[in-house]
Amino acid sequence: MNTPPAMLHPELLAPFDLHAITRDGHRLDHAEGASKPLQSCPEPQPLGAKIHGSRPIDQTEAAARFIAAPEHEKMHDERLWDLRQKRDREMHGIAEWEELRALASAIKEHTLTHLDEYLEQFEANARSHGVHVHWARDAAEHNQIVHCILSDHGAKSLIKSKSMLTEECGFRHYMTSVGIEVVETDLGERIQQLDNEDPSHVVVPAVHKLRTDVAEVFAKTIGTDPANSDVHYLAEAQREATRPIILAADAGMTGCNFAVAETGTFVVCTNEGNADLSANVPKLHIASIGIEKIIPRLEHLAVFIRLLSRSALGSPVTQYTSHFRGPRAGDEMHIVLVDNGRSERLGLEEFWTSLKCIRCGACMNTCPVYRRSGGLSYGATYSGPIGLIIDPTFNQRKYSNLPFASTLNGSCSNVCPVEINIHEQIYAWRRVLVERHETPLAKKAAMKAAGELLSRPAAYRAAIAATDVALAHLPRFVIYNGLNAWGRHREVPHPPKETFHSWYQANRGGKP
Ligand code: SF4
Repeated sequence: MNTPPAMLHPELLAPFDLHAITRDGHRLDHAEGASKPLQSCPEPQPLGAKIHGSRPIDQTEAAARFIAAPEHEKMHDERLWDLRQKRDREMHGIAEWEELRALASAIKEHTLTHLDEYLEQFEANARSHGVHVHWARDAAEHNQIVHCILSDHGAKSLIKSKSMLTEECGFRHYMTSVGIEVVETDLGERIQQLDNEDPSHVVVPAVHKLRTDVAEVFAKTIGTDPANSDVHYLAEAQREATRPIILAADAGMTGCNFAVAETGTFVVCTNEGNADLSANVPKLHIASIGIEKIIPRLEHLAVFIRLLSRSALGSPVTQYTSHFRGPRAGDEMHIVLVDNGRSERLGLEEFWTSLKCIRCGACMNTCPVYRRSGGLSYGATYSGPIGLIIDPTFNQRKYSNLPFASTLNGSCSNVCPVEINIHEQIYAWRRVLVERHETPLAKKAAMKAAGELLSRPAAYRAAIAATDVALAHLPRFVIYNGLNAWGRHREVPHPPKETFHSWYQANRGGKP
């Protein structure tokens, strides 16, 4: 038996106790109830999309690898569907849920159409509390501003709570290149950092990993027992390994869920309290805030707080909803307001309402494509339905395949707490990308041929009749071969004996 590292809590070292217990002897009531180590040989974690510069991401290829790992696919699908069901239960407990969604959508719409005014109001109020406010046009400027602040303080280490904006900016990679150590304080994000992977979900960054994957990552990076995948053991080991780093950090960074213009304050929601550690332990606190996070008044915050956690995890509220107003005496607080393509998106008639997004992840949890392909298959900062809308605004060529990774079933729009018409925007992107010649030649040629055929009823009927005969007689490999991606995961249904058109002609004489 491997000797567990000495840093562990004594309860976890007891040989008879493979699973954590509380001090009074009871089993910990953790979100992942079944924490017994898996008995079977662990299935290797499938890797995400291959990224080659600006070449279009092949989401289909990466998704196929994820599907080919059945234990991962099943766990991912079930875990996210569970979140969706919990969200539904919470929603049904609030009679005015639809009114709340409409209100949240209207508040965001109003704010986004008066964004300049509210941003200036927020800046003035934040400055009046002694906060330094900076403006960053893009990711590069954001990274440089933060680097300058850290350099001015001689800071060499930074602890950071989860922030999709900093992922968008490639912040960690930049900091590594200038010799500043960044340590994530969110457990899921820390797992992803140690595994040198991006987050695969906006709320639960390591949701695609089995416990055995985490055990493997921790064994390699912080020296835990590779055979022990008990969640309590792993969480405790990570806590013990990270706390000393947190206590010694020179600076702390947080993101922001909502920035209130009338007060100049901002709010960060977490379930682990890690934003509070990042913000309060070091004397220097830097907050990166996307300009779309502004809401006008404090009273509006309640609307979003009621929606956010219920939509995200199906829990009434996050464990921590922390308000930040200004630095403590002797400390320093900086806010970096980041655009990075947001003002440009605001001018896109069909896509500007995507800026209402509060990053709850509900659209991802409900999406059948996302649940079965994993977030890393999208090869982008944002995955799932909201990613299909946002990613092409960053790079149309690179993300040109993503809007096609959707069934357009509309479930994403139905669960979105700020009523974004997600599936309609995905459909609109398809049209835009085809018009701008950003789709692969083969797909374009197939669509053109289909368009020609569908616009000529006689030719279409002749083709259908010929296809029926062909399907009955062609050898199987003609459809199910390596060149036909469609046939890799589906069986062509048996053609009906008679088409609706011929039935209608025969029974109704072609008359309505
Ligand atoms: S688009 Fe809507 S459902 Fe999806 S993450 Fe954003 S707010 Fe949540």
